[in-house]
Amino acid sequence: MDDARTRLDDGWVLLEDDRIEHVGSGTVPGAVKLDRRIDARGKVVLPGLVNTHHHLPQVLTRNVPRVQEAPLFLWLTELYDVWRGFDAKAVDAAARVGLGELLLTGCTTTTDHLYLFPQGQERFIDVEIAAARDLGIRFQPTRGSMSRGQSQGGLPPDDICQDEEAILADSKRLIREHHDARPRAMTRVGLAPCAPFSVSPELMRRTAEMAREHGVRMHTHLAETEDENAYCHEVYGCRPTEFLRGLGWLGDDVWLAHCVCLNRDEIALFAETGTAVAHCPSSNFRLGSGLAPVRDMLDAGVPVGLGVDGSASNDTSNMLAEARQALLAHRPGQPPERWITAEEVLWMATRGGARCLGRDDVGSLEPGKAADLILVETRRLSYAGAASDLLAALVFSPFPEPVDTVLVNGKIVVEGGQLVGVDVEKLVAEADLVSDRLLRSATRATGKDYFARTPARAVR
Ligand SMILES: [Zn+2]
Repeated sequence: MDDARTRLDDGWVLLEDDRIEHVGSGTVPGAVKLDRRIDARGKVVLPGLVNTHHHLPQVLTRNVPRVQEAPLFLWLTELYDVWRGFDAKAVDAAARVGLGELLLTGCTTTTDHLYLFPQGQERFIDVEIAAARDLGIRFQPTRGSMSRGQSQGGLPPDDICQDEEAILADSKRLIREHHDARPRAMTRVGLAPCAPFSVSPELMRRTAEMAREHGVRMHTHLAETEDENAYCHEVYGCRPTEFLRGLGWLGDDVWLAHCVCLNRDEIALFAETGTAVAHCPSSNFRLGSGLAPVRDMLDAGVPVGLGVDGSASNDTSNMLAEARQALLAHRPGQPPERWITAEEVLWMATRGGARCLGRDDVGSLEPGKAADLILVETRRLSYAGAASDLLAALVFSPFPEPVDTVLVNGKIVVEGGQLVGVDVEKLVAEADLVSDRLLRSATRATGKDYFARTPARAVR
């Protein structure tokens, strides 16, 4: 994943502390004294993958029967009633599950977009940061926000929206306490109002000012569905991209999730301004939103990364599965010359993602970059017969959780296909317990049965 997309057979990577010192093939220079050697025979070694969009707490509301057939706006309004029950314990369990899944599927750097803070629960991002530190994943959470409730024409209920002054004060606090701008930093913070339909234009504008004042990145959802286009047209008299542009929300310090409903002019505008896109095909399929015009984006020079998106609309945090989805999604009905290739998908999952998150220190195996590596075991039935191009096999022929070893900043966090220092069985039991509690209390509070599969037309 260097600019020349070099592949090395019989390769080696030399690490010094948290950095890559050297990359080569054949014999390791004899003068080098190794403290430790990891045998990578039979494995493909890649830079760690980068996830560009997620809502970790949603792990606890995967495939909820009531919204299995619900499109975005209905899915959101039904799930707000469950999500308002989140507390620190729930966020902690969800973060550990989601971050663990990401590591096991080769992701070494991830963002999270946390925008729902029930009253009195302002420290959710701090909880996630602590979980990420324990697991050893590089973490770049964003302080999300919702301020435009139903009484002001927004989508979310008023009681899960926050006062704009409180949002900005907490954003500032998080930057001060957690943002680390140094190279190879393990924690960086960004700012991320939820979407045009859940915050005010004023908050978008002030958030952009604050982000630029502190040199942190900006993120939000954009043009996810035609419903959103219709909403913006009705409320703001323009398309979502125009709305963002007017608020100073396009630029090379911005990356936007989904961008399913972009037209050609908007793609050109993204390319011109360096605005990056988090492509989340699984979520877009799951909610019936559509398919982002990624071929056109790549051809126009728009930076594109991959995102697993929140686990209530995917319903997994599997980075390699997302890569495969992106590989296959752009083929039906398209001439082969417009198909996305395996190499392009892996590029999006590494360098494209790094560009979204504003990082030049991850995404490739090159001297000076962070020592973020994944080793994928290829001596498996699912890769047998694929030796002619094992790199492509990682996305053409995925094996669930095939990653054998993961290093982040030179530290081994997955070994032998297992998370280091995590009691997975206990974590799963804990997450299931909290999930059950959330669905039960939402069922009790609303009178709607969250355990019953409900055809979309019957949900109101
Ligand atoms: Zn999202």
